Amino acid sequence: MPTSPALQRMADFDLTTEQRAVRNAVREFAEREILPHVERYEREERYPTDLVAKLVPLGFIAPLIPERWGGSLTDVLTYGVICEELARVDWVVASVVSVMNSLVAGSILAHGSDAQKERWLPPMARGEVLCSACLTEPGGGTDLGNLRTSALRVDGGYRITGTKVFISHAAHAGLFFVVATLDRAQKHRGVTAFLVDPHASDGITIRDFPMRTLKRDNLAEVHFDETFVPAENLLGTEGGGFPVLGSALDTGRFSVAARCVGQAQRCLDLAIPYAMEREAFGRKIGEFQMIQQKIADMVCRTEAARQMVYRLGRMKDAGIARASLEASVAKLMASEAATHNALDAIQIHGGYGLSAEYEVGRLLLEAKALEFGEGTSELHRKLIAEHALGIRKQ
Ligand SMILES: Cc1cc2nc3c(=O)[nH]c(=O)nc-3n(C[C@H](O)[C@H](O)[C@H](O)COP(=O)(O)OP(=O)(O)OC[C@H]3O[C@@H](n4cnc5c(N)ncnc54)[C@H](O)[C@@H]3O)c2cc1C
Repeated sequence: MPTSPALQRMADFDLTTEQRAVRNAVREFAEREILPHVERYEREERYPTDLVAKLVPLGFIAPLIPERWGGSLTDVLTYGVICEELARVDWVVASVVSVMNSLVAGSILAHGSDAQKERWLPPMARGEVLCSACLTEPGGGTDLGNLRTSALRVDGGYRITGTKVFISHAAHAGLFFVVATLDRAQKHRGVTAFLVDPHASDGITIRDFPMRTLKRDNLAEVHFDETFVPAENLLGTEGGGFPVLGSALDTGRFSVAARCVGQAQRCLDLAIPYAMEREAFGRKIGEFQMIQQKIADMVCRTEAARQMVYRLGRMKDAGIARASLEASVAKLMASEAATHNALDAIQIHGGYGLSAEYEVGRLLLEAKALEFGEGTSELHRKLIAEHALGIRKQ
């Protein structure tokens, strides 16, 4: 069922004609080519390699990579709209685009050498190389200044040793963005970023990391056992991993927030027709005020989050490379909107909300997962408060 014209007008109001056209094209494609397969892929725990391949000819795989390297960058807001529309139908396909563009391509564009750009960006734009970001460790993902994965200087490069967990796309990726520490005692000043080619490196073991949700994402535990990384694969400078992470996560939070808007919207798109079809006490349940209250709250959450995300995109398009406060606000609001909308959508569906027949139950855990990735809600509340109180150390 299409989004109602009134809601669509609100969502589209300040987009340009081109941005609206991109939204329509991605939505039409995603509903036709991706959505019909998602439930089955989840049951089969099947990674959507074939669905991702379909993004390539349409230019939806690399919307943050400039044309010079084969990508389709027009503006950051359009990138956000693409992430939103892909996530409206599938968390995993949207994650492929978001990790590759925001975390990896964005870091190479901002901090990479010319040789790194030439080597990695064109195959990424052709969909030949997917990416993983290897940040989180068994000991924690929030405190990235306290990494245990080590990088040892050796002749011609480094040897990386350590374990990363929860790694999306790892078994399918041709490029890992890895952070490791050159000196743990130096905390965040020891953190260093590397580009690791998993097919050209020894000592990498990828194991299944079993999850209750997102089985089609094949999340992995990645072990590095003295993995040699040539010096030319250092991204940025030794000990300069935090600035790389800072800019990567700033754009990452934008695309995750955009994905959350798509998920929040999907909950609404599913709850509205259900509320207008399902009957109780001889009336459509959508005529009951308590159901209407949930629909109204869902609309307000979605739209408020969308406006925060679009404004953040416009700030980046205006040349503000780092907008940490706004990125935290957008990511926090949008991820919590997606989770709350999923809860309300389930409640509107009654018991069917948890039946395998309906999609809304699946959306809840998938939305919840976005309250962790690229900074938990607690971390963002901390960052926002520190910005507001003027006590944030940059
Ligand atoms: C589906 C999914 C996909 C993921 N994909 C990836 C991926 O591709 N690559 C990757 O590197 N990681 C990935 N992650 C991991 C994710 O980034 C981490 O889960 C996240 O960073 C939190 O780390 P943690 O789970 O170790 O929690 P911890 O860091 O151990 O935190 C535990 C709890 O303590 C809270 N906490 C921590 N510090 C503070 C503080 N200072 N103040 C208040 N509360 C605090 C946290 O908010 C959280 O609630 C993924 C996770 C999921 C669920």
